[in-house]
Amino acid sequence: MICDRVTGIQNGTNPYFVKELETGYVVIGDHQYFRGYTLFLAKKHVRELHDLPIAIRQKHLAEMAIVSEAVAQAFSAEKMNIESLGNGDAHLHWDLFPRYAGDLGHHGQNGK
Ligand SMILES: [Zn+2]
Repeated sequence: MICDRVTGIQNGTNPYFVKELETGYVVIGDHQYFRGYTLFLAKKHVRELHDLPIAIRQKHLAEMAIVSEAVAQAFSAEKMNIESLGNGDAHLHWDLFPRYAGDLGHHGQNGK
């Protein structure tokens, strides 16, 4: 799925594509249960952050932080929630969720 999204960016067919950075692509989430939900997809197909060569790894983390800052500012987040999951989808990516006061109450106990 993440591989497909990356391929879609590279051939110009991913409507969620926002921005290319050196080590990854920024895409807006295809659901917006949390307003501003954004993903940062690694360009390299690796399973884990530690699978990236060290120089690319450092750059990738730094760029992920830049994406987080941009999303926080664009959506006036009170807190960013960031996770790298993908148990069934082994292409390194980051889910970035801007969070707002009171949104837990709106979304119940489901955590995110
Ligand atoms: Zn992939």
